[in-house]
Amino acid sequence: MDDLQFGTRNKRGDWAPATALRASPIWPPQPARALSWLIGYLWPWNALFLASALLWWRWLIPDEATRRTLDIGWIGPLLVANMMGIALFYGAIEWRWYHRRAQDRRFKYNGRFPAEQPSDVFWFRSQNLDNALRTLLISVPIGTAIEVALLWGYANGWIAQRDWDSHPGQIAALVALAPVIHEAHFFVIHRAIHWGPLYRWVHAVHHNSVNPSPWSSLSMHPVESLAYFGVAAWVLVMAGHPFLAVWFFHLAGFGAVVGHIGFDKLAFGADGRPLMDTSAYAHYLHHKHFDVNYCDNGVLPLDVWTGSWHDGSPEGEARMQERFRRKRERMNTASS
Ligand SMILES: [Zn+2]
Ligand SMILES: [Zn+2]
Repeated sequence: MDDLQFGTRNKRGDWAPATALRASPIWPPQPARALSWLIGYLWPWNALFLASALLWWRWLIPDEATRRTLDIGWIGPLLVANMMGIALFYGAIEWRWYHRRAQDRRFKYNGRFPAEQPSDVFWFRSQNLDNALRTLLISVPIGTAIEVALLWGYANGWIAQRDWDSHPGQIAALVALAPVIHEAHFFVIHRAIHWGPLYRWVHAVHHNSVNPSPWSSLSMHPVESLAYFGVAAWVLVMAGHPFLAVWFFHLAGFGAVVGHIGFDKLAFGADGRPLMDTSAYAHYLHHKHFDVNYCDNGVLPLDVWTGSWHDGSPEGEARMQERFRRKRERMNTASS
Protein backbone atom coordinates (compact mmCIF):
# COMPACT_ATOMS: atom_id res chain seq x y z
CA MET A 1 0.00 0.00 0.00
CA ASP A 2 1.73 3.13 -1.23
CA ASP A 3 -0.12 6.26 -0.14
CA LEU A 4 1.99 8.38 -2.53
CA GLN A 5 -0.01 6.86 -5.39
CA PHE A 6 -2.99 8.77 -3.99
CA GLY A 7 -1.41 11.98 -2.71
CA THR A 8 1.71 13.82 -1.57
CA ARG A 9 3.68 14.17 1.66
CA ASN A 10 5.38 17.43 2.65
CA LYS A 11 8.61 17.93 4.61
CA ARG A 12 6.76 17.86 7.92
CA GLY A 13 5.36 14.45 7.05
CA ASP A 14 1.78 15.66 6.48
CA TRP A 15 -0.01 13.72 3.75
CA ALA A 16 -2.60 15.36 1.45
CA PRO A 17 -4.82 13.78 -1.21
CA ALA A 18 -3.93 14.54 -4.84
CA THR A 19 -7.51 15.08 -5.90
CA ALA A 20 -9.62 17.99 -4.65
CA LEU A 21 -12.73 17.33 -2.59
CA ARG A 22 -15.94 17.54 -4.57
CA ALA A 23 -18.90 19.23 -2.97
CA SER A 24 -22.41 17.78 -3.13
CA PRO A 25 -23.88 17.70 -6.68
CA ILE A 26 -27.26 18.91 -5.39
CA TRP A 27 -26.86 22.57 -6.35
CA PRO A 28 -25.93 23.55 -9.01
CA PRO A 29 -27.36 20.16 -10.07
CA GLN A 30 -24.94 17.61 -11.56
CA PRO A 31 -27.16 14.61 -12.42
CA ALA A 32 -24.25 12.55 -13.82
CA ARG A 33 -22.67 12.39 -10.35
CA ALA A 34 -25.92 11.74 -8.47
CA LEU A 35 -25.80 7.93 -8.16
CA SER A 36 -22.15 7.53 -7.09
CA TRP A 37 -22.55 10.43 -4.69
CA LEU A 38 -25.73 8.91 -3.17
CA ILE A 39 -23.99 5.56 -2.61
CA GLY A 40 -21.05 7.32 -0.92
CA TYR A 41 -23.45 9.30 1.20
CA LEU A 42 -25.31 6.23 2.48
CA TRP A 43 -22.42 3.77 2.63
CA PRO A 44 -20.76 3.11 4.95
CA TRP A 45 -21.27 5.82 7.55
CA ASN A 46 -24.96 6.71 7.55
CA ALA A 47 -25.91 3.03 7.08
CA LEU A 48 -23.76 2.12 10.09
CA PHE A 49 -25.29 4.82 12.31
CA LEU A 50 -28.81 3.84 11.24
CA ALA A 51 -28.01 0.22 12.11
CA SER A 52 -26.75 1.20 15.57
CA ALA A 53 -29.84 3.38 16.17
CA LEU A 54 -32.13 0.47 15.19
CA LEU A 55 -30.17 -1.86 17.47
CA TRP A 56 -30.62 0.55 20.38
CA TRP A 57 -34.31 0.99 19.57
CA ARG A 58 -34.88 -2.76 19.51
CA TRP A 59 -32.89 -3.75 22.61
CA LEU A 60 -32.39 -0.73 24.87
CA ILE A 61 -35.30 1.69 24.55
CA PRO A 62 -38.15 0.55 26.81
CA ASP A 63 -41.86 0.59 25.92
CA GLU A 64 -44.01 3.70 26.13
CA ALA A 65 -45.48 2.86 29.54
CA THR A 66 -42.00 2.61 31.10
CA ARG A 67 -40.86 5.83 29.42
CA ARG A 68 -43.77 7.77 30.95
CA THR A 69 -41.80 8.28 34.18
CA LEU A 70 -38.22 9.43 34.56
CA ASP A 71 -36.83 6.38 36.28
CA ILE A 72 -33.21 5.37 36.79
CA GLY A 73 -34.27 1.80 35.92
CA TRP A 74 -34.30 2.65 32.19
CA ILE A 75 -32.31 5.90 32.08
CA GLY A 76 -29.27 4.34 33.82
CA PRO A 77 -28.85 1.41 31.38
CA LEU A 78 -29.40 3.75 28.40
CA LEU A 79 -26.69 6.13 29.66
CA VAL A 80 -24.29 3.22 30.26
CA ALA A 81 -25.05 1.79 26.80
CA ASN A 82 -24.48 5.18 25.13
CA MET A 83 -21.18 5.65 26.98
CA MET A 84 -20.02 2.11 26.25
CA GLY A 85 -21.15 2.25 22.61
CA ILE A 86 -19.24 5.48 21.95
CA ALA A 87 -16.22 4.30 23.98
CA LEU A 88 -16.03 1.01 22.07
CA PHE A 89 -16.60 2.57 18.64
CA TYR A 90 -14.14 5.46 19.03
CA GLY A 91 -11.82 3.29 21.13
CA ALA A 92 -11.62 0.56 18.47
CA ILE A 93 -10.46 3.08 15.85
CA GLU A 94 -8.02 4.66 18.32
CA TRP A 95 -6.69 1.24 19.31
CA ARG A 96 -6.01 -0.02 15.80
CA TRP A 97 -4.85 3.14 14.02
CA TYR A 98 -3.44 5.34 16.83
CA HIS A 99 -2.20 2.90 19.48
CA ARG A 100 -1.19 -0.15 17.43
CA ARG A 101 -0.58 2.17 14.44
CA ALA A 102 -1.73 -0.54 12.06
CA GLN A 103 -0.89 1.51 8.95
CA ASP A 104 1.67 3.80 10.62
CA ARG A 105 1.44 7.31 9.01
CA ARG A 106 0.18 6.20 5.63
CA PHE A 107 -2.77 8.40 4.53
CA LYS A 108 -2.44 10.42 7.78
CA TYR A 109 -3.11 14.12 7.19
CA ASN A 110 -0.99 15.25 10.12
CA GLY A 111 2.40 13.55 10.22
CA ARG A 112 2.39 13.30 14.02
CA PHE A 113 0.25 11.37 16.48
CA PRO A 114 -1.42 13.30 19.33
CA ALA A 115 0.42 11.13 21.90
CA GLU A 116 3.70 12.64 20.59
CA GLN A 117 2.56 16.20 21.38
CA PRO A 118 1.88 16.74 25.11
CA SER A 119 0.48 20.22 25.78
CA ASP A 120 -0.67 22.36 28.70
CA VAL A 121 -3.97 23.14 26.95
CA PHE A 122 -5.15 19.59 27.73
CA TRP A 123 -6.17 18.01 31.02
CA PHE A 124 -3.17 16.00 32.30
CA ARG A 125 -1.20 17.44 29.31
CA SER A 126 -2.64 14.59 27.22
CA GLN A 127 -4.90 15.22 24.24
CA ASN A 128 -6.14 11.62 24.31
CA LEU A 129 -7.05 11.60 27.99
CA ASP A 130 -8.57 15.09 27.88
CA ASN A 131 -10.64 14.29 24.79
CA ALA A 132 -11.83 10.89 26.06
CA LEU A 133 -12.85 12.26 29.48
CA ARG A 134 -14.70 15.24 27.97
CA THR A 135 -16.48 12.87 25.55
CA LEU A 136 -17.60 10.33 28.14
CA LEU A 137 -18.19 12.55 31.19
CA ILE A 138 -19.64 15.67 29.53
CA SER A 139 -20.89 15.24 25.97
CA VAL A 140 -22.43 11.74 26.08
CA PRO A 141 -24.36 12.43 29.35
CA ILE A 142 -25.67 15.75 27.92
CA GLY A 143 -26.69 14.06 24.65
CA THR A 144 -28.35 11.23 26.58
CA ALA A 145 -30.24 13.73 28.77
CA ILE A 146 -31.72 15.34 25.64
CA GLU A 147 -32.58 11.91 24.20
CA VAL A 148 -34.24 10.84 27.47
CA ALA A 149 -36.22 14.10 27.78
CA LEU A 150 -37.62 13.65 24.27
CA LEU A 151 -38.48 9.94 24.75
CA TRP A 152 -40.23 10.90 27.99
CA GLY A 153 -42.07 13.76 26.21
CA TYR A 154 -43.27 11.41 23.45
CA ALA A 155 -44.48 8.81 25.98
CA ASN A 156 -46.55 11.45 27.78
CA GLY A 157 -48.12 12.77 24.58
CA TRP A 158 -46.41 16.18 24.78
CA ILE A 159 -44.72 15.70 21.40
CA ALA A 160 -46.87 15.04 18.34
CA GLN A 161 -46.20 11.61 16.86
CA ARG A 162 -47.38 9.29 14.13
CA ASP A 163 -47.82 5.58 14.22
CA TRP A 164 -45.50 3.47 12.04
CA ASP A 165 -48.36 1.20 10.83
CA SER A 166 -50.49 4.06 9.51
CA HIS A 167 -47.75 6.49 8.37
CA PRO A 168 -44.68 4.45 7.27
CA GLY A 169 -43.94 6.78 4.32
CA GLN A 170 -43.86 9.99 6.39
CA ILE A 171 -41.73 8.42 9.13
CA ALA A 172 -39.29 6.94 6.60
CA ALA A 173 -39.04 10.37 4.91
CA LEU A 174 -38.22 12.02 8.26
CA VAL A 175 -35.60 9.35 9.00
CA ALA A 176 -34.05 10.06 5.57
CA LEU A 177 -34.17 13.82 6.17
CA ALA A 178 -32.54 13.68 9.63
CA PRO A 179 -28.89 13.69 8.37
CA VAL A 180 -29.65 16.82 6.32
CA ILE A 181 -31.21 18.53 9.35
CA HIS A 182 -28.17 17.49 11.41
CA GLU A 183 -25.83 19.07 8.85
CA ALA A 184 -27.76 22.33 8.63
CA HIS A 185 -28.12 22.53 12.42
CA PHE A 186 -24.42 21.87 12.91
CA PHE A 187 -23.49 24.49 10.30
CA VAL A 188 -25.58 27.18 12.03
CA ILE A 189 -24.40 26.49 15.59
CA HIS A 190 -20.83 26.02 14.37
CA ARG A 191 -20.82 29.43 12.63
CA ALA A 192 -22.28 30.97 15.80
CA ILE A 193 -19.62 29.53 18.14
CA HIS A 194 -16.86 30.81 15.85
CA TRP A 195 -17.96 34.37 16.74
CA GLY A 196 -15.12 35.84 18.85
CA PRO A 197 -16.50 35.87 22.42
CA LEU A 198 -18.34 32.54 21.99
CA TYR A 199 -15.27 31.01 20.38
CA ARG A 200 -13.03 31.94 23.31
CA TRP A 201 -15.60 30.88 25.92
CA VAL A 202 -16.98 27.71 24.28
CA HIS A 203 -15.55 26.41 21.02
CA ALA A 204 -11.83 26.86 21.77
CA VAL A 205 -12.06 23.64 23.83
CA HIS A 206 -12.84 21.62 20.69
CA HIS A 207 -10.18 23.42 18.64
CA ASN A 208 -7.44 22.67 21.17
CA SER A 209 -7.14 19.48 19.10
CA VAL A 210 -5.44 20.93 16.02
CA ASN A 211 -4.40 17.38 15.11
CA PRO A 212 -7.70 15.56 15.80
CA SER A 213 -8.18 11.86 16.47
CA PRO A 214 -11.46 9.99 17.09
CA TRP A 215 -11.47 10.98 20.77
CA SER A 216 -11.57 14.64 19.65
CA SER A 217 -14.98 14.18 18.02
CA LEU A 218 -17.10 15.01 21.07
CA SER A 219 -14.41 16.81 23.06
CA MET A 220 -16.46 19.94 23.70
CA HIS A 221 -17.36 22.60 26.22
CA PRO A 222 -20.73 21.64 27.84
CA VAL A 223 -22.46 24.56 26.09
CA GLU A 224 -21.31 23.22 22.73
CA SER A 225 -22.43 19.68 23.66
CA LEU A 226 -25.87 21.06 24.54
CA ALA A 227 -26.20 23.02 21.28
CA TYR A 228 -24.75 20.14 19.23
CA PHE A 229 -26.94 17.32 20.61
CA GLY A 230 -29.79 19.87 20.72
CA VAL A 231 -30.34 18.92 17.07
CA ALA A 232 -32.69 16.22 18.43
CA ALA A 233 -35.07 18.98 19.58
CA TRP A 234 -36.11 19.33 15.93
CA VAL A 235 -38.44 16.37 16.62
CA LEU A 236 -40.65 18.87 18.48
CA VAL A 237 -41.82 20.30 15.14
CA MET A 238 -41.86 17.08 13.13
CA ALA A 239 -44.90 15.00 14.16
CA GLY A 240 -42.72 11.94 13.61
CA HIS A 241 -41.84 8.95 15.79
CA PRO A 242 -39.86 8.52 19.03
CA PHE A 243 -37.25 6.55 17.07
CA LEU A 244 -36.16 9.92 15.63
CA ALA A 245 -34.89 11.02 19.08
CA VAL A 246 -32.65 7.93 19.14
CA TRP A 247 -31.62 8.39 15.49
CA PHE A 248 -30.52 11.99 16.12
CA PHE A 249 -28.42 10.88 19.12
CA HIS A 250 -26.66 8.28 16.97
CA LEU A 251 -26.11 10.67 14.05
CA ALA A 252 -24.63 13.32 16.34
CA GLY A 253 -22.82 10.99 18.76
CA PHE A 254 -21.42 8.16 16.66
CA GLY A 255 -21.48 10.36 13.54
CA ALA A 256 -19.12 12.96 14.99
CA VAL A 257 -16.23 10.56 14.45
CA VAL A 258 -16.29 10.92 10.68
CA GLY A 259 -14.45 14.26 10.50
CA HIS A 260 -11.93 13.32 13.21
CA ILE A 261 -10.42 10.06 12.00
CA GLY A 262 -7.27 11.84 10.81
CA PHE A 263 -6.61 9.35 8.00
CA ASP A 264 -7.91 9.71 4.44
CA LYS A 265 -8.22 5.96 4.01
CA LEU A 266 -8.28 3.16 6.55
CA ALA A 267 -6.66 -0.18 5.71
CA PHE A 268 -8.37 -3.20 7.24
CA GLY A 269 -6.21 -6.15 6.25
CA ALA A 270 -2.60 -6.96 7.21
CA ASP A 271 -1.54 -6.40 3.59
CA GLY A 272 -3.02 -2.89 3.54
CA ARG A 273 -6.25 -3.90 1.76
CA PRO A 274 -9.13 -3.35 1.60
CA LEU A 275 -9.00 0.43 1.90
CA MET A 276 -11.96 2.46 3.07
CA ASP A 277 -12.46 6.17 2.28
CA THR A 278 -13.13 8.06 5.48
CA SER A 279 -14.55 11.42 4.24
CA ALA A 280 -12.52 13.10 7.01
CA TYR A 281 -10.58 15.66 4.97
CA ALA A 282 -13.08 18.55 4.91
CA HIS A 283 -13.30 18.72 8.71
CA TYR A 284 -9.57 18.09 9.11
CA LEU A 285 -9.04 21.27 7.07
CA HIS A 286 -11.41 23.05 9.47
CA HIS A 287 -9.23 22.01 12.44
CA LYS A 288 -6.14 23.17 10.55
CA HIS A 289 -7.39 26.51 9.17
CA PHE A 290 -10.41 27.29 11.45
CA ASP A 291 -12.35 29.65 9.16
CA VAL A 292 -13.21 27.07 6.45
CA ASN A 293 -15.57 24.08 6.08
CA TYR A 294 -18.02 24.75 8.90
CA CYS A 295 -20.08 21.84 7.62
CA ASP A 296 -18.92 18.37 6.69
CA ASN A 297 -19.04 17.59 2.99
CA GLY A 298 -22.65 16.35 3.03
CA VAL A 299 -25.92 16.90 1.19
CA LEU A 300 -26.08 20.68 1.42
CA PRO A 301 -23.01 22.53 0.08
CA LEU A 302 -23.49 25.27 2.69
CA ASP A 303 -19.81 26.23 2.74
CA VAL A 304 -19.79 26.61 -1.05
CA TRP A 305 -22.82 28.89 -0.83
CA THR A 306 -21.35 31.02 1.96
CA GLY A 307 -17.81 31.24 0.57
CA SER A 308 -16.05 29.18 3.27
CA TRP A 309 -15.49 26.02 1.21
CA HIS A 310 -11.93 24.65 1.00
CA ASP A 311 -11.55 21.63 -1.29
CA GLY A 312 -7.93 20.92 -0.27
CA SER A 313 -6.46 21.86 -3.68
CA PRO A 314 -3.76 24.54 -4.21
CA GLU A 315 -6.48 26.71 -5.82
CA GLY A 316 -8.68 26.20 -2.75
CA GLU A 317 -5.74 27.19 -0.55
CA ALA A 318 -5.17 30.36 -2.64
CA ARG A 319 -8.88 31.27 -2.42
CA MET A 320 -8.75 30.82 1.35
CA GLN A 321 -5.60 32.95 1.72
CA GLU A 322 -7.17 35.69 -0.40
CA ARG A 323 -10.32 35.60 1.76
CA PHE A 324 -8.19 35.81 4.94
CA ARG A 325 -6.24 38.75 3.44
CA ARG A 326 -9.45 40.65 2.66
CA LYS A 327 -10.74 39.93 6.18
CA ARG A 328 -7.52 41.30 7.74
CA GLU A 329 -7.83 44.40 5.55
CA ARG A 330 -11.41 44.97 6.68
CA MET A 331 -10.37 44.59 10.32
CA ASN A 332 -7.45 46.98 9.89
CA THR A 333 -9.70 49.55 8.22
CA ALA A 334 -12.28 49.20 10.99
CA SER A 335 -9.69 49.65 13.74
CA SER A 336 -7.88 52.64 12.17
ZN1 LIG B 1 -13.97 18.94 14.96
ZN1 LIG C 1 -14.87 24.99 14.64
